[in-house]
Amino acid sequence: MRPSIRLGRVAGVQVGANWSVLVIVALLAFGLYGTVLPAAAPGLPPAAYAFAGAVTSVLFLACLLAHELAHALVARYHGVEVRRITLWLLGGVSELETEPPSPRAELLISGAGPLSSLLLAVVGALATVLAGALGLGDLVVVSLAWLAAVNAVLAVFNLLPGAPLDGGRILHAVLWRRRGDRISAQVSADRAGVVVGIALGSGGLAQMLFAGDISGLWLVLLGWFLVSAANAESATVQAKAALAGLTVRDIMTPDPVCVLAGLPVDAFVTTSAAAARHRAFPVVDLDGTVVGVVQLARLAAVPPAMRTVRRIGEVATPIGPTAVLSPDDPASAVARVLTAATPVVPVVEAGHVVGIVGAVDLARAVDLMRLKNSRAVGE
Ligand SMILES: [Zn+2]
Repeated sequence: MRPSIRLGRVAGVQVGANWSVLVIVALLAFGLYGTVLPAAAPGLPPAAYAFAGAVTSVLFLACLLAHELAHALVARYHGVEVRRITLWLLGGVSELETEPPSPRAELLISGAGPLSSLLLAVVGALATVLAGALGLGDLVVVSLAWLAAVNAVLAVFNLLPGAPLDGGRILHAVLWRRRGDRISAQVSADRAGVVVGIALGSGGLAQMLFAGDISGLWLVLLGWFLVSAANAESATVQAKAALAGLTVRDIMTPDPVCVLAGLPVDAFVTTSAAAARHRAFPVVDLDGTVVGVVQLARLAAVPPAMRTVRRIGEVATPIGPTAVLSPDDPASAVARVLTAATPVVPVVEAGHVVGIVGAVDLARAVDLMRLKNSRAVGE
């Protein structure tokens, strides 16, 4: 997930937020201001509820961040770098650069988040008692109690045993340890995620239909998100497993048609573009160095009258030396460099294009490996 708001670095980790996080902050602040606080601490001016509601919901965000930072710091302790933390509509996400090195590391990294939420719940409860004893006023006491309760809910919810929730990661670590097979453990943890997602979604739906409670929509949304995230994760893991041991050379389309950057669009369209069975082509300069990728769609966007003067290099998507692959790179590296603007990636060896590889090659390789593996099992 790409954060749209950069919040800066906290403890050396890049922290950002998606605009959707403002929706939860606003909903929580509004709920506290309109319902929770007036009911628990009646008789105060509306401005007091508004102020306390705003402060409390921002503190809730800080608690979410603390949960994610706990994951991040324990991950770093185990040699796993954290790319970034993003806060969004349904909580926080820590993106790890690599996978945890061992079941034990995964257990500790995944457990750190819920544990920190639990600790915050305990601290919140103690602060509530203390604020009451010091006579700090009902509004402060109620706000602290609410924060304690929400952190407890956060801890328990995240411990539900389905990936990609923390509980699902813990389940993965346990199964991985027991079976010694990371992939099959992942598939099981993702299946559990689908089950948990369906259960949550159904619960939310029942809440809406039978109790007429619109807040069941949150559970439906969460359930839907869990099911799709678990399915996507499962597909990625199986694709990665299928590609393990293969190199880019194994899956690329060799000897592709390359286009000279200086060629007029018209000259290419009337000659090789129609004959080659591709939708995108590497663009090279005179000494064969790859400088970009051009898609048929981009060529089609050039007005016919301009096609004799515009050159391929002007309409191509330029690519730098880091956006190409070597034939000896692992096949799984392909997915990392594919973007919407460059749907195929040139494969370069000794300065020359020796192949191209795209999403179709990747999908084909995954299908072929599955076919091979299933035959091997069947025999
Ligand atoms: Zn977590």
